[in-house]
Amino acid sequence: MDCIFCKIIEGQIDAKKVFENDLVLAFDNIKPVHPVHVLIIPKKHIDNVQAAVSGDKDWLAEMMLAVAPIAAKKGIDKTGYRLIVNFGKDSGQSVEHLHIHLVGGEELPFATG
Ligand code: AMP
Ligand code: ZN
Repeated sequence: MDCIFCKIIEGQIDAKKVFENDLVLAFDNIKPVHPVHVLIIPKKHIDNVQAAVSGDKDWLAEMMLAVAPIAAKKGIDKTGYRLIVNFGKDSGQSVEHLHIHLVGGEELPFATG
């Protein structure tokens, strides 16, 4: 399978790793849009959130649990941050391997809700 993020997991493509355990990997975005822009991925190929199934729950849980330690490591655990998961054409999802964008390090310009 020709997946950039699987290649990062396998060490075939370099990335600036910020967090890793048995189930997830996180690394700096190669084209950051904010001062902190980390991508958190499962160490198992899942195309996107729409394709996730209950058998993926350990990976999905671990992705969320990775957020707090990564935010602390990046020094944004007090100032705040936003999590983004894109899916499909209308979102502009460009990499077909599930990922959470963890962004912060400045006041973020747009908030839903
Ligand atoms: P998305 O639009 O949600 O699919 O986001 C994919 C993100 O992956 C983009 O923000 C890219 O900048 C980022 N990206 C693509 N290739 C790499 C790479 N080799 N290392 C780090 N980030 C990457
Ligand atoms: Zn993959």
